[in-house]
Amino acid sequence: MFRFLFSLFLLTYFAYAKGVVTVSIPPQAFFVEKIAKDTVDINVLIPPNSDEHSFELKPSVIKELEKSDIYFAIGFSFEESLLKRFKNTLKHLDIVKTQENINLLEQSHNGHKHSALDTHIWLDPILVKVQAQNITNALIKHYPQHKNFYENNLKVFHDELDSIDSDIKKKFQGIKNNKFIVYHPSWSYFAKRYELMQIPVQINNKEPKARDLQRLIDIAKGENIKVVFIQKGFSKEAAQTIAKECNARLEEIDHLSRDWKNELLKSADILAYSLKE
Ligand SMILES: [Zn+2]
Repeated sequence: MFRFLFSLFLLTYFAYAKGVVTVSIPPQAFFVEKIAKDTVDINVLIPPNSDEHSFELKPSVIKELEKSDIYFAIGFSFEESLLKRFKNTLKHLDIVKTQENINLLEQSHNGHKHSALDTHIWLDPILVKVQAQNITNALIKHYPQHKNFYENNLKVFHDELDSIDSDIKKKFQGIKNNKFIVYHPSWSYFAKRYELMQIPVQINNKEPKARDLQRLIDIAKGENIKVVFIQKGFSKEAAQTIAKECNARLEEIDHLSRDWKNELLKSADILAYSLKE
């Protein structure tokens, strides 16, 4: 009897025990949730409202990372150093590169290119389709009992991403200008997809020098730029200076929101409106 009950317990345990997965940034939690729903618990490495290129990891987040079956990486340099730092406790972690099968752009500003690759692939809904496929493959490998469920969820999410893409395209119809100034250059893939041109304030993730600031002010005046975009968790001073010099206003957008869809559509609205002024 005891053995029977014990096997029953084990069966129930394995059928209903939730896996834990870790992602680097909040938008990835949105993507994993679309596919996995409540079959996994999702641990997010970077805290809300921070700069994804420099932030402090919370000990609780590391603990959850150690419990995780999968780590959905996206291509940040912090991922490699983190995995190296904790390599002894993370032996069983499956590291999945969600950027697989995506042609990464080189980081570029002001004409010249830098060798570092641009990691901001989560702001283009068509590229998110590829990331969602990579996420689904890994989830099926680890939790094969949910294969059909995950495949159906992927199909629904792919359709949703296509309709987000066509909504955004419509928003940009009839714009007068296609250049926009944004503090941190996280919008390169989005800009490429919708035929816009991102002009970043930051150079190599650093504050601009006086000379760069003057160049940006000249561009903003010449291009009749009405809005300078700032981001949560990033410095506002340089953007404020530019906006003041050219009589533009500041708009805050959040490229790292876990409420990915609403936030992306909202940012597209603000951006499209500013390009029609
Ligand atoms: Zn970034």
